[in-house]
Amino acid sequence: MTDVSQDPEAARWHYRPSEPVGLNPLFSWPPRPAAVLKWYAGAWLPITALTLCLTLAVIAYAMFLPPLEVMKSFAPGWMFRVWLLNLVPQTLVAGGLHWWLYMRKGQGMYKKFDRRDLTRKNGIFTFNNQVWDNIWWTLGSAMTVATVYQWGIYWAMANGWVPTVTWEQAPVWFVVWMMFIPMWSGLHFYWVHRLEHHPKLFKHVHAVHHRNVNVGPWSGISNHWYENLLYFTTYFIHLIVPSHPLHLLFHTYFQQVSPILSHSGFEKLKAGETEAARAGDFFHQLHHRYFECNYGTAEIPFDRWFGTYHDGSADATERTRAYKKKRFG
Ligand SMILES: [Zn+2]
Ligand SMILES: [Zn+2]
Repeated sequence: MTDVSQDPEAARWHYRPSEPVGLNPLFSWPPRPAAVLKWYAGAWLPITALTLCLTLAVIAYAMFLPPLEVMKSFAPGWMFRVWLLNLVPQTLVAGGLHWWLYMRKGQGMYKKFDRRDLTRKNGIFTFNNQVWDNIWWTLGSAMTVATVYQWGIYWAMANGWVPTVTWEQAPVWFVVWMMFIPMWSGLHFYWVHRLEHHPKLFKHVHAVHHRNVNVGPWSGISNHWYENLLYFTTYFIHLIVPSHPLHLLFHTYFQQVSPILSHSGFEKLKAGETEAARAGDFFHQLHHRYFECNYGTAEIPFDRWFGTYHDGSADATERTRAYKKKRFG
């Protein structure tokens, strides 16, 4: 255990990982092949955001998504279905996790980063309540924007106006592109997110997401309308890169459902006495606490390259505060 008197950072959390927050070793020099293998095995083999999102995408594709031929022209039937494919998993995963972790308190404080409970009766939140605020911005705003973008992309795919691919045509590309989607999403997120931290955009737009210093499952994509308009432009890559509807579905859940886990506020989910799944992301939890650090994800270490990486240490907090002062006075 860290000695709190030696490390003031430790006193600021209920729980924090004992090691500095890790970054993808793929970008390390000299190369560390064993560490890279471990990183990807850890991300894809156990129950994680990635495997959950892939499972959701396969189920949605096999059982619920209408075939592309049906989507050649705009019609209420398939459009409603696409909206439900956004709404239902979001509600089940965020609602379920919120119920288990924060209402039922199913694992108590086990590996919970913040000491505090979610906020009620506070005027900075819509409806004066953090959870209702987050539900509104997620189901009302984010799901609407995401659905409209997806309608356009499926429609363009169906009409053959954008390059598409099938498993039979190119199985290797199919898999490679699927595995690359999280990296594309991380790259897009970093730049969009940096833009949103421009003081003007932050004040009027991104502040809605940052109302949540102590985050919960519903905070994941609790964003202002304008932020959602920007954030979901990540899907437009499918207008350029040859894709299959399954790629868009995986991208959809990666973009929408995985932030539920990364904002859950708990590092691990426990089932009985064992740690059943990875959940929270201390890297992003630090962003919500200190704002001007860790703009990206651990997937591509932009923050290290641009000097805004916070590894969870007291030194990094000092550095972040100095940077904030320099930038905002
Ligand atoms: Zn966030
Ligand atoms: Zn931010």
